[in-house]
Amino acid sequence: MLIFKDKTTLAAYLKSLRRQGKKIGFVPTMGALHEGHLSLMKEASTHADVVICSIFVNPTQFNDRKDFEKYPIRREDDIKKLLGSPTELLFLPSVEEIYGPNTVNLETYDFGKIEKMLEGVHRPGHFQGVGQVMRRLLELIQPEVLLMGQKDYQQVLIINTLINILKINAQLIICPIVREPDGLAMSSRNLRLTEEARRKASGIYQTLVYIKDNYRRSPFDKLVKKGINFLEKQGFQVEYLTIANSRDLQVVNKPVSSPMICLAAAWLDGIRLIDNVFL
Ligand code: AMP
Repeated sequence: MLIFKDKTTLAAYLKSLRRQGKKIGFVPTMGALHEGHLSLMKEASTHADVVICSIFVNPTQFNDRKDFEKYPIRREDDIKKLLGSPTELLFLPSVEEIYGPNTVNLETYDFGKIEKMLEGVHRPGHFQGVGQVMRRLLELIQPEVLLMGQKDYQQVLIINTLINILKINAQLIICPIVREPDGLAMSSRNLRLTEEARRKASGIYQTLVYIKDNYRRSPFDKLVKKGINFLEKQGFQVEYLTIANSRDLQVVNKPVSSPMICLAAAWLDGIRLIDNVFL
C-alpha cells in the first residue's frame, strides 16, 4: 500500500492511474478504523480498480472543540488494518495540506432544509465543514465511485447534494451499517465508552428495532415516546429519535409510500452516539 501525505505527489500518481484507464473508488474516513470502514473498502474493490482511502480528522466539521481534541487517533493500527484490506493507496494529509495556512472564512454551501434538521440542529456548522473537506478531497481525487456509510445517513444526503452543486462526476454508493454482535453500530467513538456505558450502548439499536417491529400497529408518536423513555431509563440523554421520510428527512406521523427511516442520536456517559434503521 502506498501512503501519500501531500497533494502534489498524490495528483501526479492519480494522473498515471488515469492514463492506464484505472477506475478509482474512494473511501473518506477520519481513522480509528473498524470493520465498518473496512466494509466500505471491500465494497469499493468490487466497483473500482484502485481503492483509495483517506484518513483526515477534519477540524472544520467539529462544532465541539473538545470532541475534536478527543477524537481517537490510531495511525499504526489503521495502517495494519488497511494492509489487510483491498486499499492500494492511503492519503494522510495534514490540516495545512488540505486547507492552507488557516481554516477561517472558508466557502459555504446551500444544502437546503436537510442541513438544518436532526444533526444540523445539534451540531451547527457540522455539514458546512463536511462540505468543505469533501469538496477538496473530491476535486483532488476525482473518483469514479465514492463509498459512504448509511450510519451517517444525513451526511450521505448532504454529499449527494454537494455532488450536484459542484457537478462532480462520481457515483455515490451507500453501504450498510456494520454492527457489533449486540447490535451497537460500529463507530470510532465507541473506543471512548467506559465498560459500563459500552454494555448499555446497544440500547439505541434495541430501540430502533423495537420501532421497526411495531410501526405498523402503533401510532408513531407513541412509539417514539416509548423509545425515548426506554433510552432515558437506561441513562441516555436523547437528542432526537425520529421517524422520517428517507428522501428528505421530513418527520412522518404515519406510514408514507416512500421508504421511511428511524434515526437516533443520544449521549451516553459523555459520548454521542448515532444510529438508524430503515423501516
Ligand atoms: P468516519 O471515519 O466516522 O468519518 O466514517 C467514514 C465512513 O465510514 C463514513 O462514510 C461512515 O458513514 C462510514 N462508517 C462509519 N461507521 C460505519 C459502520 N458501522 N458501518 C458502515 N459504515 C460506517
